[in-house]
Amino acid sequence: MKKLLKLWVLPFFIAVSARAAQPAPVIIVGGGLAGLTAAYELQNLGVTAHLLEANDRLGGRVATMEYENGLHGEYGMHEIWAKDPLYEYVQKFHIPTTKPGEPYSSVFIHGKYHPYIQDTAEEYFAALFNAEQRAQYDRWLKGCEVLYDESEAKGLTPKLAELQKISFADWIKSFDFSPKVSEFIRLSLECEIGADWANVSAVYGIQQYRVFLHGTEKCYHAQGGNKKVIEALADAFKGPRTLGALVTRIVRTKKADGTTEAVVYYQKDGVMRSMTAQKVILTVPYHILHSIQLEPPLTDTQWQAVDAIVPGMYQVVHFIIDTAANKILLIDGKNPFPALTRGPLGVVYGFSDIPPASQKEEIFSLLIHGDYTRTYLESRDKMRVRLLDEMDKRWPGFSKYVHATHFYGYHPAATPAWPAGHSPLDATHASLREANVGLYLAGDYVSSSHAEGAVKSGRVAAEKVAADLRAH
Ligand SMILES: Cc1cc2nc3c(=O)[nH]c(=O)nc-3n(C[C@H](O)[C@H](O)[C@H](O)COP(=O)(O)OP(=O)(O)OC[C@H]3O[C@@H](n4cnc5c(N)ncnc54)[C@H](O)[C@@H]3O)c2cc1C
Repeated sequence: MKKLLKLWVLPFFIAVSARAAQPAPVIIVGGGLAGLTAAYELQNLGVTAHLLEANDRLGGRVATMEYENGLHGEYGMHEIWAKDPLYEYVQKFHIPTTKPGEPYSSVFIHGKYHPYIQDTAEEYFAALFNAEQRAQYDRWLKGCEVLYDESEAKGLTPKLAELQKISFADWIKSFDFSPKVSEFIRLSLECEIGADWANVSAVYGIQQYRVFLHGTEKCYHAQGGNKKVIEALADAFKGPRTLGALVTRIVRTKKADGTTEAVVYYQKDGVMRSMTAQKVILTVPYHILHSIQLEPPLTDTQWQAVDAIVPGMYQVVHFIIDTAANKILLIDGKNPFPALTRGPLGVVYGFSDIPPASQKEEIFSLLIHGDYTRTYLESRDKMRVRLLDEMDKRWPGFSKYVHATHFYGYHPAATPAWPAGHSPLDATHASLREANVGLYLAGDYVSSSHAEGAVKSGRVAAEKVAADLRAH
């Protein structure tokens, strides 16, 4: 009987393995959030994709470093915002998170420390602003909400098109706010975008102020590090993947029957190889598009859209510190971090949770952003001395507690940003969302920036590819 069963099952296995040997109809280049989202969503739509990733790990700019002493720290994406589509996956895959955080942070304004240790944002603002400053900020926030909602509902309306012409800095200056209110808005925005407020359009700034609008958004961190989100997505995607595959060339042709064929060339283990599919979703960061040979090339409008993007720059520093430092860092036993500074320290993230008394060491991190990351050519030894000096100025004695320092640099562009005259809402930019002879772009520069843009664009690309495959 057993023998009979085996004979009956055999043809089934042959059929399955013959099907498994079929090349996937879609190749996804890049295994960051956009690539993994596209792969997973295509699978949900019944389409198999083969993922090619240059690195020996998945996740791209979502990256958690684990240290020998059991500590870990993010050196890529820090916050997962409640309204980001990424948070839907956190819920769907039941990924445990730490206690949710608030978007508002402690700030250093004109040299003075305003720690956020109050129980509510209301009490924090009461301590930070006087009545007139508070009224200015609230009025502006309300106006910002109206403009943000308009951009979401209708895209680039005539009013928003006018605003897109000027920088966020010039827009805020036009209100003639108290310097403290302007500086607060500036600090809150610049750490989100990784760029100087003068270098981005008012429209892009409004889009990125989202987390402070409509009563503020909570932010989440995966327990054990945000790489847990990548692991969950990578597990949920059952299709084939090749790591250590650096794609250098993508050649597509359109056939007479309207279908497309793409040959993707990649280097692996020092050998140039190729793989064929019908469609390709390319999810590399915008500044890497230039280093891949695309035949046919992107359209002129698509290149104009890419070339208009300016870099949002980040550099992450992890200090491994003695937890005894908490006596100079905590205020009344409360955690005042993150603290926003304008200067070489950027966002002093500190630690998200106060460690238990039994713990001897903790990670204390900085997210340096914008022009202050331009010191990437400076020696790390010099930079460490300068940063510790800055930390000591604000928290005297901090450097005594530092056991080790680790730097994580992103050059030239950690996130995309849009200067005056541009935004992800304009027609030039919309061209990036159009298929180009079997090639579909996805990534955090295609529809908007950060994890939100990466996940959104990965989903949209998956839907388009599935629909186009069905059509032909
Ligand atoms: C320090 C830092 C902090 C951040 N903080 C936040 C935050 O708090 N909240 C938030 O929402 N966002 C944050 N971001 C932004 C967010 O991490 C990114 O926007 C998002 O992860 C981008 O995903 P992606 O898939 O578009 O690109 P990537 O993650 O860059 O993925 C692209 C992948 O393509 C691969 N690749 C590149 N070239 C090739 C090639 N030639 N062949 C094959 N593969 C290739 C890369 O190795 C990479 O894995 C932060 C980013 C950084 C750097």
